[in-house]
Amino acid sequence: MTEKVYARNVEALKSGTVIDHIPAGQGLRILRLFQLAEYRERVTVGLNLPSGHMGSKDLIKIENVVLSEEQANELALFAPRGTVSVIEDFAVVRKQKLAIPDTVEGIFACPNSNCVSHVEPVQSHFSVRVTEHDTKMKCKYCEKVFSKDIVVDVR
Ligand SMILES: [Zn+2]
Repeated sequence: MTEKVYARNVEALKSGTVIDHIPAGQGLRILRLFQLAEYRERVTVGLNLPSGHMGSKDLIKIENVVLSEEQANELALFAPRGTVSVIEDFAVVRKQKLAIPDTVEGIFACPNSNCVSHVEPVQSHFSVRVTEHDTKMKCKYCEKVFSKDIVVDVR
């Protein structure tokens, strides 16, 4: 009985955001890159949870925070099939759409180690282009084009 009460306290979200269907392994990176812990709200992270169609997935719940449209779109680069649910009073009131953004600023470092963005005090800036087989990201500073996965995987 006590176990059940505890589980409910951890899992139930009164209001805030649930980010679900994150590919396993990306949850902690999303938490860090989007600085979700900086809101000083309660954050619950589930890693390697079983998922029917994905095998395993990560999940993030954050209390009293709603992602901006810009954040939701940047999230699409990590979790193309991710879902973002806005919770009020323990119920889902809205699902935020994730659409690959046209540009991404300040989240990823340029994979080109000779890029001027590493030495100048500038925010990284990529323009994003979705092609049939890949998503390409072009750095504004060195003008090199990278596959999205290469940019997203740079730590
Ligand atoms: Zn660059």
